[in-house]
This record gives sequence, structure tokens and C-alpha cells, in this order.
Amino acid sequence: MSGETDARPATSGGATQWSDAPSRDALQLIAEGVTKVAGFGIAAISVVRSDGKLEVMAVAGSDEAGESLKGRRTPIDQLSREIAKADDWGLFRFVPHERLDASAGEQWGWVPDIDPIDDAPDAWHPLDLLTAPLYDDGGVLRGTLAIDLPVDGRRPGEGQRAVLNTYAEQARQAVIVALEREMLSEQVRMAETARRIVRRATAQLSMDRVVEDSREALVEGFNAAGMWLQTFDQDGHGAIYSAVGREIELSPAMVQIAETAARIAWEQQQPAVVAPDRPFGPTITDEQGELILAFLAEIGVQSLLFTPLGAGPECLGNLVLTRVEGAADWTEAEATSALDIGHDLGRAILNARTFEREHQLVEELQELDTYKGQLIATVAHELKNPLTSVMGHLEMLESSPDFSGTTRSSLNAMERGTRRMVRVIDDLLLLSKVGDADNPVIPVRVDLRKIVDEAVDLITVAAGQKGLAVRIDAPDEPVLALGDATELDRVCANLVSNAVKYTPDGGAVTVSLARAEGEVVLTVADEGIGISEADVARLGTEFFRSSNPEAVAQPGTGLGLAIVSRVVARHGGRMSIRSALGEGSTFRVFLPSG
Ligand code: ADP
Repeated sequence: MSGETDARPATSGGATQWSDAPSRDALQLIAEGVTKVAGFGIAAISVVRSDGKLEVMAVAGSDEAGESLKGRRTPIDQLSREIAKADDWGLFRFVPHERLDASAGEQWGWVPDIDPIDDAPDAWHPLDLLTAPLYDDGGVLRGTLAIDLPVDGRRPGEGQRAVLNTYAEQARQAVIVALEREMLSEQVRMAETARRIVRRATAQLSMDRVVEDSREALVEGFNAAGMWLQTFDQDGHGAIYSAVGREIELSPAMVQIAETAARIAWEQQQPAVVAPDRPFGPTITDEQGELILAFLAEIGVQSLLFTPLGAGPECLGNLVLTRVEGAADWTEAEATSALDIGHDLGRAILNARTFEREHQLVEELQELDTYKGQLIATVAHELKNPLTSVMGHLEMLESSPDFSGTTRSSLNAMERGTRRMVRVIDDLLLLSKVGDADNPVIPVRVDLRKIVDEAVDLITVAAGQKGLAVRIDAPDEPVLALGDATELDRVCANLVSNAVKYTPDGGAVTVSLARAEGEVVLTVADEGIGISEADVARLGTEFFRSSNPEAVAQPGTGLGLAIVSRVVARHGGRMSIRSALGEGSTFRVFLPSG
């Protein structure tokens, strides 16, 4: 045995690990057959690796040779050079030692330590080379069976050569099967890796991102030249995400074929392969298949694997992976993995769609809200001036001595009505001001004690009329909050006036102030009519008034708490409401301390 060698381990140099034990055993068995039956001391079977080297996979006959040979890698060129000088013995090639290139260097890695048996021409020389190159049906070299050390010390005669040929044929078939199995399991492994990556990518909510993150994995995992992915929208259009590297223009006819085929393929859960000399299968008609092949030829692609994408009964798109000439055929295992990926990507399309719809809806709602705010602000502004003028004139008329009796009382009623309208308009204007993000609070230190005192002062008359006791429970020293004094004043006034308004005669209202960690707390508690749980959830919505008839009986607009909650929110504070029907309510406002 002779030749250049490379003693790198089998796992390096671009080769994959020979993981398939049954294949290895089959090769070993054949090598042992040669040593036990065909009368040779040593036999070695090698396979061709993707990096163009022959790797020794099975050695029989000598443990010592086995140790040193297994995993050895030899360039194919070396073998070709030696075989060129060989005698043709059927499947075997024999190179007598005298023809071997002396500069060939090291032997296959192992030279038997023997001398020729005698001087006869058929005596075996330790440097004689007897190897069967093993070709597949396409004439491609896939491995070798090399033998050495004839037991009788002689070069094999006709009879022995015939036996050797049968072993060479067996070895040929075993090597082909082993390599195919290895390739298949490698394909499955790669496709599964791609699937894992795609699956992770599908957590993204935009289809662009999903495709961006899975593109490379798909192309690499499927050993593809490129890919494109088409999604269908409900209106039948959708997007095409194109191949890696170069952009591919799909004609409308091609898109249409792909869409129809995808729907059938999803229904049948059957990916399709389009390749020359291969039936197109149930998904694609012959006519469509020919059109696709012609298109592929135009863009320099040999074949494609076509996978439908979907979720549940709905087909949502298709994925196309392409291969150029010379690449392996698409296998069943790859098609199965691609279909699994089709399910993952289908779910991703659905997620992306839902997300997009929600996003759109939120945007629309926000627009509507902005519009509502603008409408309220505009109307309030427009009404404010004429109302002020009406108020002025009414006050003037009321102070005139020309009127008396019913006219005067009408004027009074008109003034009360107008005053009420002015209050509503003022509330609306304030509401729009505190809801305007472009008009933030300019915070200063505000003493809440003063604000509370003023609010209680203002309500004293009304409270007194109802026989209500309003109590203040606050520390002696200032309680400072950070905020806008006018706005905080409205918060306090609204809460206190509500407490008085919604508490029946004779009840009690307590307004308290306290400091907590980094916050100040304003509490307004009453023993009034209370609010139901359902109504509490809706408090703070503009114009909301509770459904409780006792509450509706009181005058009000439903704007007070809306103003309170917006002011509190824009101060970076929060509000809590504890209430039960018939038992009273407690409103608590937490504000940043000053
Ligand atoms: P308004 O008092 O003008 O109706 P608000 O926005 O101040 O508007 O209050 C909204 C609703 O919340 C009121 O209509 C009332 O039903 C309920 N509410 C507010 N404060 C209290 C309270 N202290 N006790 C009972 N109900 C209340």
C-alpha cells in the first residue's frame, strides 16, 4: 500500500463525523470477508470526503495496521496518479512496486514488515499496490478497497482475482449506501437546525424581521442557493421576500402559479419538488411545471423545493428554496422538515397579521381620541366668549331698577343657567388643557395644607346647609407637593365638593393629609351614598355619571373626576378609590412630595 497521507482526525478538514454505526459495521464486515476468505492479510475500505480526500473507514486483518490506518486521509489525486500506472484486474487495479513513484513519500500509513517470499516474478513485494477504486453508477469515485499481504506471499492469480472482484462489488455498494445514509442524516440534522432557528425567529411580530432572521438559516440548513417567501393577504395580494444575495423578480403568472399550488399543497400537506426529469406531483400541473422550469433556467436555478405555509385550515403563503446545477437532489427528509417549517412560519404570519391589525386599531383609536379632544376644545373656546358676553349683559340688566317682579326672577333664572354653562365650559377647557401632552406641568412646591383649607372654606356654606361636618386632619407644618398650584387646587376642590354633594344630610366628611415615602397623600373620605364596583371602574371617563339614581339626582356634568384623574396622572401621581354602595367613599391621591 502506498500513497501520501494526512493523519488529521476524521472530524476535521471539512469532513463530517462518521456517525452511522450500521454503515461502519457493514464496511468492516466486508473488509473482514476479504481477509478471512480471499486470502489477504489486510484490507482497508476508504470513502471519499467532501474535501476531496479518501478517508479510511474500516480496516481488517491486523490490529496494528488498523490502529495506524483508521481515520487516515489521502488526497484522491495521489490515488489517481498511481492508478494511471496500474494493470487492469477487473474492479481492482494493480501497481507493481517497481512502477511506483519513489518520491511518493510515506506509504498509506503502513507498510508490512516482510520480505518477498522469493525472486519469482509473482512474489508479493511489500510496496505492491492493489486497490479497487469504487465508483457509483454515475462514474463518480466514492471510495476504495485496498488490500495487502497475500497469505501465500504471491500476487493473486486469475481465480483469486475473481473472488476479490466480488468483494470489491460488495464494498462498492456498501460505500454508496453508507455515504447516502450519512448524507441523509446530515441533511436532516441541518434542516432541523434551520427549523430551530426559524422557530426562534417566529417570536418576532413583524414578518420582515422573521424573514430577516431566518433567511440565512434556511439557505444554509437546506444547502440552497436562495429562497423566496410569499405571503398571502386576505385581499389576495401579499408580499414576496426575495432570495439571499440577488433580487428575483417573479412574474405575476409565476406568483399566481405559486399561490394556487400553495393552497393545494397545504390542503394535502405535501411539499413539492420541481426539477428537470422529475414528475411534478399532484400539486403542480405539467404545464405549470414546464413554465416554472423555464423560469428557473432563466435565473440559473436547477431545482426548487416548494413548501406551503399555513396555520389550521388556512394557507398563508409559500416558501421556495432553490438549488443550482450540481447540488444534491431534494430528499424526502428535507421536504418533511420544510413542511414543519411551513407550519412555524404560518403561525408567524398569523401573529404578524394580528399584531398589525391591533396596531392599526390602536392608532385609529388614538386618532379618534385626539379628534375628540380637539372638538371639545374648539367648541368650548367658541362658546366661552358669547357666554361671557351674555353673563355680562344679564348682570347689567339685573342691576337695572327698570325691572321688577316676574321679569327680575326670569333674569335670575337666566343668570343661574348661564353661570352653570360657564362652569361646564370652564371644565371642558381645563380638561383639554390637562389632557394636552404638549402642555406639561411646570412643577413648583405647593403647600397642600393651604389648598385643603381653601377648598374646605369654599364648601362650608353648602355643607352647613346640609348639616354636614367637614373635618380636616393635617399636620401643623406645611405638606409640600411638586406640581401646579391651580391644577392641584382643582383636584382638591372637586373631591371635597363631590364628598359634600354625594353625602346625605347629617353625615361627615374628612379631608386628611399625610406624608409617605417620597409622596404626599391627600385623602377625602365621606359617609355618603357610595359607588358600585362597576361604576368605580368607569370613574374618570369624561361625562360619566354613576347609574345610581341618588347620584343622578344631584346636579353634575361628569367632568370633575375626569379632570382629577388627568391632573394626577400628569403630575406623575396616582389615585385610589375605595367605595361601597350606601357606605361612603374614600378617594386617595398620591403626589410626588416637594
Ligand atoms: P359630577 O359630580 O359632576 O357628576 P364627577 O366626575 O365629579 O362628576 O363624578 C362622576 C360621578 O362619580 C358622579 O356623577 C357620581 O355618580 C360619582 N361620584 C363622584 N364622587 C362621589 C362620591 N364622593 N360619592 C359617591 N359618588 C361619587
